[in-house]
Amino acid sequence: MERNYRVHGGRVQTRSLEAHIVDHCNLTCAECCSLSPLLPAWYASPASVADDLRKAAKVLNPGVFKLVGGEPLLHPQLVEIIGCVRDTGIAPLISVTTNGLQLGEMPDGFWQAVDALTISRYPKPRLAPDLVAHIEAQAARFDVRLNWKVQDSFTTMNRAQPATDIAEVQRIYHDCWIRERCHMIRDGMFYTCTRPAHFQTLYKSTQDFSSDGLPLRDDAGMLDALLAYLQRETPLDACLHCHGGSAPQAPHRIMKRIELDALKARYP
Ligand code: SF4
Ligand code: SF4
Repeated sequence: MERNYRVHGGRVQTRSLEAHIVDHCNLTCAECCSLSPLLPAWYASPASVADDLRKAAKVLNPGVFKLVGGEPLLHPQLVEIIGCVRDTGIAPLISVTTNGLQLGEMPDGFWQAVDALTISRYPKPRLAPDLVAHIEAQAARFDVRLNWKVQDSFTTMNRAQPATDIAEVQRIYHDCWIRERCHMIRDGMFYTCTRPAHFQTLYKSTQDFSSDGLPLRDDAGMLDALLAYLQRETPLDACLHCHGGSAPQAPHRIMKRIELDALKARYP
């Protein structure tokens, strides 16, 4: 665990920071960590991402900034957003995490803008060999770093019912590696993991997860507030709905419409 965060030049050094710029996806993976199959279509505005990052960049210096989803290639202003991220100077590297299915349709401007791609490779649907060849050629042409990530299995983090054993929740939160690796910004908030923002959308107004995040502010106390937040030992409200990053694995699979509809019916 990297909970003794180093501060350099007034900024906390972290592994990564991400923005989920669309909630929806063109796949319906079971156990999607971002809950995309259950969420309505949503697009981040470039102005909102830029505003959050301008504040965050004063106190935070992640090694990489990741644009994630849902499927981020579905965002029509993706290239503009990458430009906004670059202007803030938040991180030395800007990466997009994608299932790759749309990469054959991305314009050269996208390949020029991005530094790196993490491409999830699922057993089904497989990326066609000619698409893989195109991706490799474009990456070589525009000097984009490729990280092919084989994902045959997913962590089963979602709970059918909220946890009632508070000691168990405390232990899961304490041991959860995701709270160091999946820091996220959205709508003026910094989150130590991506789950609260998505639970907020999933549960609509029936449950409030806003206290799981730290409001991004422009004042002198922000650095201390961020360090205290990153090191807090009180579990998030979201942890009640989550088995954590070390939950058992299950083979990757795409949900059928009937299963998805039954799952959606559980939520408001
Ligand atoms: S491709 Fe990624 S974002 Fe889309 S449903 Fe699968 S895991 Fe979720
Ligand atoms: S909600 Fe809690 S247990 Fe789940 S990934 Fe986030 S920090 Fe870990």
